[in-house]
Amino acid sequence: MQNRLVQHLKFNRWHERQLYASFAWLLSCLMCGLLFAAIVEFVGFHFSGIFSILSIIVLYLLGIAIIDSFRRFWMQFSFAQLCANSATCKSCGSYGAFSVRVGVRPIYVRCQKCDHQWVIGQQQRDRH
Ligand SMILES: [Zn+2]
Repeated sequence: MQNRLVQHLKFNRWHERQLYASFAWLLSCLMCGLLFAAIVEFVGFHFSGIFSILSIIVLYLLGIAIIDSFRRFWMQFSFAQLCANSATCKSCGSYGAFSVRVGVRPIYVRCQKCDHQWVIGQQQRDRH
């Protein structure tokens, strides 16, 4: 059964959570890189037979984990920054005066001060 409860967060809190989550991905990327280097340094390719195949498989999986966790970090971090750049109300100039529905994209927002509505988290198309 699907959970129909939709969580609303203040924009600043939501942005903070996005940054924490993205830095958790960056940290896991760095940890995988450290493990990769430790395996290459201490285990190396001195073993033969099944151990050499196992270490190559583990290094391959760690390489995939490094690339994917860095990709997730960069996607989430750049999305959070993109949203932060467009969080200022064009009508009254207040920053982040709206709530965000968690997990919904694109983010339709309504200013709590002047009821101006716009969409954040999209590339600006009207730049020349
Ligand atoms: Zn406003």
